Amino acid sequence: MRGVIMHEPGDVRVEERPDPTIEAPTDAVIRIVAACVCGSDLWPYRGADAPDQQLMGHEYVGIVEEVGDEVRTVAPGDFVVGSFVISDNTCPICTAGYQSRCVNGIFVDGGIGTQAEFARIPHADGTLVATPGQPDDDLIPSLLAASDVLGTGWFAADAAEVGPGKSVAVIGDGAVGLMGVLAAKQMGAETIIAMTRHVDRQNLAREFGATHIVEERGDEGVAKIRELTDGLGVHSAIEAVGSQESMMQAIRSTRPGGHVGYVGVSHDVELPGGELFFGLVHLHGGPAPVRRFLPDLIELIWNREIDPGKVFDQTMSLDDAAAAYSAMDSREAVKVLLRPRSLHLSVQER
Ligand SMILES: [Zn+2]
Repeated sequence: MRGVIMHEPGDVRVEERPDPTIEAPTDAVIRIVAACVCGSDLWPYRGADAPDQQLMGHEYVGIVEEVGDEVRTVAPGDFVVGSFVISDNTCPICTAGYQSRCVNGIFVDGGIGTQAEFARIPHADGTLVATPGQPDDDLIPSLLAASDVLGTGWFAADAAEVGPGKSVAVIGDGAVGLMGVLAAKQMGAETIIAMTRHVDRQNLAREFGATHIVEERGDEGVAKIRELTDGLGVHSAIEAVGSQESMMQAIRSTRPGGHVGYVGVSHDVELPGGELFFGLVHLHGGPAPVRRFLPDLIELIWNREIDPGKVFDQTMSLDDAAAAYSAMDSREAVKVLLRPRSLHLSVQER
C-alpha cells in the first residue's frame, strides 16, 4: 500500500509500505477513506521534533476490511471514525474518561500512521466508533474532523468548563482553535473571542460562532479581552497552540476562578509559579481523550447539527502529501484533507 513517511524535517514522501494484517484478536484493518495533515505534524516537519522515517498521520475515517476474533462492536463493511490514540476503553483511566492516556494506549502517529491506504487499528472495540450507516460524501470531512481537531477543540472547551452565558477566549487560529470556537458555540457560550490576525480565519471563526475578534497579542491582547469582559477576563480560555506565548496569553486572559483548557502540544512551556499562584485559575489539558466524545460528536454530525468539515479548505490526493504539508506550513491552507487516489469524494470547496 501507499503511505506517508517523514524521513527528516521537511522531507515528506509517499512510499510503498507493507499492507497491514490482523496481528491480535482485538485488531481491525481498515481501508482509509480520508485522512489529513494535522497542525501537530508541523512540529516535526519544522524540526521541533526529530522525525526519523516516521509513519505519519493520526486522523482517519475508513471502512472496516477485516477484524480479529475478539472484536465485537465493529464489523467488515462498517464506516468507522477512530481517535488519534488507541485505547481499550475498559481500563480505569479510560472509564474515567481519559482514553488518551489508556494503560494500553498507543499513539497512532509513528507506530501506525494513517496517511496511508490502510491501517491496522489495535483495540478496535475501544478505539473505533461505527457511524449509523454509510455516510453521504459531504459528511465525510466532518466525520474526519471528529477524529482529532473537533474532538480536541471539544475537549478544550469541556476542560475550560465552557457553558451557557459564559465568556470564552480562544487562543490559536489553526483548525483546533476554530473547532474550539464551534464547541463553545454549541455549549452555549455567550461571548466567544477568537484571537487571530488573519482575515480568512477571522471569517471562518465568525462562521463557527465567534462573537468578537481580537488581533492584538501579549499585554495588548489581554487588555482587549478585559475590555470585553467588564475588566475581569474571560470565564474560560482555550489554548490551542502549545507555545510559551499562547499559554501565558490564556492564563492572563482568564479571570480568577476561571478555567483554562489547553490542548496545543506543549513545546518548551514553563509556567511561572508566582503568576500561577496569584492568577487563581484552573488549568486542565493535554492530549484530548477524543474517544470520550466520539459517539456524541458523530451523532451531532449525522443529524447535521454541526458542520466542522468546513475547517478543511483544501483536498489533495494522498500522493500529493508533500504539497499538503507545505501548504499548511506556509499557512496557505488551514487544513488539508488527503484521500487515496482510488477514491473519489466530493469534498465541499470553499
Ligand atoms: Zn484504557
